[in-house]
Amino acid sequence: MKKLILSIFFPTFCLVCNKKSSYICNKCFYSYLNIPYEQHCHVCGRAVRHGFVHKECSSKTNLDGLIFISVYNKLVKDIIHHGKYEKNYGVFEDLGTIAGQFVKKYYTFSMPLITFVPLSFERKLWRGFNQSEVFAKNIGNILNVPVIKNLKRTRNTKSQAGTSKKARAENIRGAFRLVDNNVDKYKTIILVDDVFTTGATLEECAREIKRKYPNIKVFGLTFATSRLSDI
Ligand SMILES: [Zn+2]
Ligand SMILES: [Zn+2]
Repeated sequence: MKKLILSIFFPTFCLVCNKKSSYICNKCFYSYLNIPYEQHCHVCGRAVRHGFVHKECSSKTNLDGLIFISVYNKLVKDIIHHGKYEKNYGVFEDLGTIAGQFVKKYYTFSMPLITFVPLSFERKLWRGFNQSEVFAKNIGNILNVPVIKNLKRTRNTKSQAGTSKKARAENIRGAFRLVDNNVDKYKTIILVDDVFTTGATLEECAREIKRKYPNIKVFGLTFATSRLSDI
């Protein structure tokens, strides 16, 4: 109801074609988002079925797999950039709805819980929201899966943009702690972030979850991966 009332007074327009619709209209979504036919192993980059890592790659990662919706093309980059820097909350709601519908169509999880990469206090204060949390909540709504904040930042990390894979991993090491330790009843944790770049952040979050819950499967879910990029 809240959304309906807001949409009457503040109509939104497609960021691509400017038509009155959600931030990405259906037509632009299917025309430009470049959804790959198969998922790719987040460790080696080769194609893999169902978004899971290859057996031979699994010892190099804390994630049991990565699911992404789109290739990180110029359009996706601009949309996410707009949402983050123009502080447009609704963009991540719409991306979450698209991602939720995609996951619902192709995946089933055993006893799932959704969580998200936390943002530092300062950055959340500046933006007014955590984009990964907004994205995660909309995915949870579509999948009817609970969304729980179970990670917090223990310290601020430097901006990751433009740094190497090794530098990112060192920068983020030990930066997360579990806050809600009551997740024993779940068998799968879907760890949500907006974009997969080197994977350092998702890996570190998954490492922290697995430290306490080694038997829970942890899948990363991001809107896009820059491993598949045409920019
Ligand atoms: Zn459009
Ligand atoms: Zn692999």
